Amino acid sequence: MAEFITKVVVLEKETIKEYESLIYLFSEDKGLILAKARGIKKITSKLAGHLETKFLTLVRLVEGRETWVVDALQEGEIKRSFKELNIIRFLAGRWQRDDEIWDILINNKKISEKDWLAYFGFNSEFASCDICGRGVPVSFDLREHIFLCPGCQVALKLSNDELVLI
Ligand SMILES: [Zn+2]
Repeated sequence: MAEFITKVVVLEKETIKEYESLIYLFSEDKGLILAKARGIKKITSKLAGHLETKFLTLVRLVEGRETWVVDALQEGEIKRSFKELNIIRFLAGRWQRDDEIWDILINNKKISEKDWLAYFGFNSEFASCDICGRGVPVSFDLREHIFLCPGCQVALKLSNDELVLI
């Protein structure tokens, strides 16, 4: 089992069991990482309070069949929107270091949600609705990676978290 230390931005945290969480991290060294952590919600846990969304945190990870956060120390908080963090969470490649994304996140560089999509290869400029093939897209579905026109967006009943308005 490999162990390593890296700086990360915490993108999102999901509780999967009472004392187990799934955490989406964007790391300086290895790009997007999905890791599990135990006991985040326990006051007595050494991880508690260090792995909140938007936190800039130094973590120690153990990589085996799964990746686990075993140590964490918050160093700061970044100023990005939840939507931007969601875009990165859904579209960035796992274990793919990306110095440009890291630089934008950390140095508070301005980039629109549309430009984030284009960065990941989804340019909305000449796109049409991926469902009906005709409509002019007004949104992008982060889960399915498709552009949607108003009619198809309504029909799919997606939550706001999963959509980027363009
Ligand atoms: Zn459509």
